[in-house]
Amino acid sequence: MQINSTRLLDNLSELAEIGARTDGGVCRLALTDEDKISRDWLLKKMQDLNLETHIDEIGNMYGIRKGKSLQPLIAFGSHLDTVTTGGKYDGSYGVLAGLEVINTLNENEIVTDGSIALINFTNEEGARFAPDMMGSLAVSKPELLKEIWESKSFDNESLNVKSELQRIGYLGDAKVNQFSFTNYLELHIEQGPILENEKLQIGAVELVQGIYWTEYVFHGAAAHAGTTPISARKDAGLVVSSLNLFLRKLSGVIKGQLCTMGLIEYYPNVVNVVPERVKVIIDLRNPDKELLKQAQEKADQYIKEISESHQVSFDRVEKVRFDPVPFSQEMVEAIEKSASGLNLKFKRMVSGAGHDAQMMAAICKAAMIFIPSINGISHNVKEYSNPEDLINGANVLLNTVATLVSNV
Ligand SMILES: [Zn+2]
Repeated sequence: MQINSTRLLDNLSELAEIGARTDGGVCRLALTDEDKISRDWLLKKMQDLNLETHIDEIGNMYGIRKGKSLQPLIAFGSHLDTVTTGGKYDGSYGVLAGLEVINTLNENEIVTDGSIALINFTNEEGARFAPDMMGSLAVSKPELLKEIWESKSFDNESLNVKSELQRIGYLGDAKVNQFSFTNYLELHIEQGPILENEKLQIGAVELVQGIYWTEYVFHGAAAHAGTTPISARKDAGLVVSSLNLFLRKLSGVIKGQLCTMGLIEYYPNVVNVVPERVKVIIDLRNPDKELLKQAQEKADQYIKEISESHQVSFDRVEKVRFDPVPFSQEMVEAIEKSASGLNLKFKRMVSGAGHDAQMMAAICKAAMIFIPSINGISHNVKEYSNPEDLINGANVLLNTVATLVSNV
C-alpha cells in the first residue's frame, strides 16, 4: 500500500495559501482568522473522508476512523498553526500526511482491527499565547484547562485563549480527556541538519531532549562611560558577556549539552552609559536529565562568582523545566521496520525541538518520525523538504499505523 503522492503535495500547496506571506512563507498564528480558515479547510477534508469529527474544549480537532473495535485507538497528527515567519511544512506536513493515510485506507477499503484518529493540536507554536504545545498539554493534564483558557494574547491583552476559541468557533464540547488513545505517532520535518548531512531519509525519534529556561536580571550601576574608572564600575553588561562565553565552553565540556543566550535586554541601552540592568534568558538542552541538571548547576555557580566579582546582584526565575522525554521503544521499532520495508535509509535520533508527541507520551505510547529539512532550516520562510522525502515519510507513517492498528 502506498499513499497518493500527488494528492499529498497538492494538499500541502493548497493549505500553504492560507496565511501565505508575500515572501513565500506562511503566517498562521494560533486562533487568528487564518487559523480558523485552515481549520475549516481541514474539517471539510475530514468530513469528506467520512471521519467522525470532534472539537474539544481547547480547540483540538479529531477525525476518527472506526475499525472493528474502538480500541486500540492509534492517534497521529501535528498542528496547523505556525510562527510569524513560518514555512509550509512545520506541523502542516504531519496533519496532511495523516489525512493522506486515511484517504489511502479508505480507497483500499481497509477495515482495521482497532481505530485511528487524526489530530490537529491547538497552538503548538506558542507564538501568540503561552505556553507552547498547548493543545496536547491540555490533553495530558486536563486539570490545567481553566488556567490555559486564561492565557492572554501577546498582541492584545484583552484577548485570551477562551475568548479567541469562541470567536473563531472552535471552543468545542468534547472533553480534553474524552478519548483513550493507546498510541500517538507524529510525522514531522527534522528542523535540523542531521538527516540531510548523513544522507538518510528517515529518523526514528526515540527521545525529546530536556529544556531548561532560566531568566536572570543582573543589577549593576549606571555610570558615565568617560568619567567612571574601570575599577569603579558595576557593569551588568560585562557579567552577561562573560556568562555567554562561559556557556559556550560548557557546551564543549558536558556531553550533548547545548547552551544559548538568545534574549538579552540592556537598560538603559545607551552608547555612553555603563549598563545598569541586563535581563537574559538562558536556554539549556540535553538528552540526559542528569547532565542537564549538572549544566544548570555549573551555570548558576559561575553566575554567583562572576556577579560577586563585579559587585553586581541578580534575580533568578525558572521559566521552563522540561526533562527529557523517552518515547516507546516498541513504536520506534515499528517505525524502523516500516522504513526498512520501504528500503529507506534511517537511524534513531533525538528531537532537538519540543513537539506535541512529548506531551502525549505522558498518557499513551508515543514516538515520532522525522524527514530531512534542507539546510536544517525551520521557523523560517525558507523552510523546505524535498517532495520525495515528504512522500517517503507519509508512506512510513501509513505502514507504521497499519502495523500498530492491527497488532497492538
Ligand atoms: Zn511543529
